[in-house]
Amino acid sequence: MLEGMLEAIEKLLALQDKDQRLRSLRQELQAIPSDIATKEKLIADSASRLEQARTRAKMIEVEKKTLQVEASSKRDQIARYKTQQMQTRKNEEFTALAHEIAGAEKVVSGIEDKELALMEEAESLRPQIAIAEKTYAEEKARYDGQISVLREKSTNIQSRIAELEAIRPAATEGIDEDLLERYERLFKNKNAHAIVALEHEVCMGCHMKVTSQTGLELRANKTIVSCPQCGRILHLPA
Ligand SMILES: [Zn+2]
Repeated sequence: MLEGMLEAIEKLLALQDKDQRLRSLRQELQAIPSDIATKEKLIADSASRLEQARTRAKMIEVEKKTLQVEASSKRDQIARYKTQQMQTRKNEEFTALAHEIAGAEKVVSGIEDKELALMEEAESLRPQIAIAEKTYAEEKARYDGQISVLREKSTNIQSRIAELEAIRPAATEGIDEDLLERYERLFKNKNAHAIVALEHEVCMGCHMKVTSQTGLELRANKTIVSCPQCGRILHLPA
């Protein structure tokens, strides 16, 4: 009986070791897709910053062309007014046209100011675009590298999990069915620590001191002893 009990404890410990490794591998694997998504988002954000700067530069060109058309049509108008001015013999009409010309010239000058402001903006945008291009290229290379490392890690973890899953049934062999069920329930509910050591009469699962009776029962090696506080299976430290 003594030997059988120790053997059962040893088997449970070996099984728990595998199950804990499986659990942490599964957790690691589960975290990878969101890690990849985060990095993909960073690449997209960087691309979008570059795209915004490029779009603004394109918009400036469009605005400049619109202003040029406006200015040119105003200048044509001014030329027409001046022709009319030369042709008229009426003083009033001449003055009225002079007034129109002055107004149109003011509009042209306003348009020219806007054009200048746009040209200045385009000028300052050029280095910004260059920086955004460089940043995007660097960030994309960096995050793409990290993503491929994560993908490789994912593949490796999956095959490690498959290996452990394949050898797990053998690790349960010879363990009493009820005990195995109890272990599995505890593993699931007690944060992957179903079987824990009793050290200086303290349960290493819940860190509570057990009664001397529990300690004695455990040292007798005759039955599976559970912690009265947390229900975990106890074993003596190796
Ligand atoms: Zn306990």
